[in-house]
Amino acid sequence: MTSDFPPSAASSSAASPPASPAVSGPSSDVAACTERALASLRGLSVGDALGSQFFVPVNRPFLERREPPPGDWQWTDDTEMACSVLAVLTEHQRIDQDVLAASFAHHHDFDRGYGPAVNRLLRLVREGGDWRRLAAELFNGQGSWGNGAAMRIAPLGAWYAYDPEQATHQAEISAYVTHQHQEAVVGAMAVAAAAALAADPAGPPAPAALLRDVLALIPRSAVAAGLHRASEMLDYEDAATVAAVLGCGRRTSAPDTVPFALWSAARGLRDYAQAFWATAQVGGDVDTTCAIVGGIVASGAPGAPPAPWLARTETLPDWLPTSR
Ligand SMILES: [Mg+2]
Repeated sequence: MTSDFPPSAASSSAASPPASPAVSGPSSDVAACTERALASLRGLSVGDALGSQFFVPVNRPFLERREPPPGDWQWTDDTEMACSVLAVLTEHQRIDQDVLAASFAHHHDFDRGYGPAVNRLLRLVREGGDWRRLAAELFNGQGSWGNGAAMRIAPLGAWYAYDPEQATHQAEISAYVTHQHQEAVVGAMAVAAAAALAADPAGPPAPAALLRDVLALIPRSAVAAGLHRASEMLDYEDAATVAAVLGCGRRTSAPDTVPFALWSAARGLRDYAQAFWATAQVGGDVDTTCAIVGGIVASGAPGAPPAPWLARTETLPDWLPTSR
């Protein structure tokens, strides 16, 4: 829902990493990369749009019964920003921070549920402000540790299906445009790594292998500590208990959001609907946890969202240089 919760007292380095080469190897087929990323984006948009329905009190009984509510479902900031990520990848085959910042600012729709700090940042960038300075200044110079860099990045992981390491690197670069606290950056890296691993053409990994391999790709952090704990709870059937331990985005921070989302995604890589309901039913930042889970699960061929759900989800925007 929101993407810019203030960080804790712990500060972090906000230095931007160096530019990196474009994707190489078997994944350099841009059409195939785009197809995978678009599949992930569709899953992300369904999770976002359907998840956000459950902030409407009248829809709560549907959630308890695991039934989609009636009507059409509009996506929120999660999907809008993910569309910019994919647009930059299709144009440049890597993340260009200036182009990404310009796309975020240009396409920013105030009514899509952005957090107040990101709303202000994107307005100022649109008016000519320098995203590097503005993002670094957030929250007394600590940068945002919100879940906004993680919520938009699964399609990038799908793009780099053959190269999870490059996925984490490009995700790191992408995060700094709005979220410069180390925890927000690592949250984005973890989600991208998970989506890259889930997109393995040989089929998605087992739950424990997914979390183990994500942990091998991210630095020591609160997000990593949460993922370690998540990996020890993969056999818990009660998602509410797991969410009580890991958090489910109630504070809209990356460490409060990403470990539970990856726990849920890891267990549902072959069943989008199961993964969605398990994620949504614990509450919290439901549009964002479901966007992350949906984007990761749909990165793999067996994890496509149910067709009726996709049909009721708002169409992706016209400015995205790919068709739905
Ligand atoms: Mg949202």
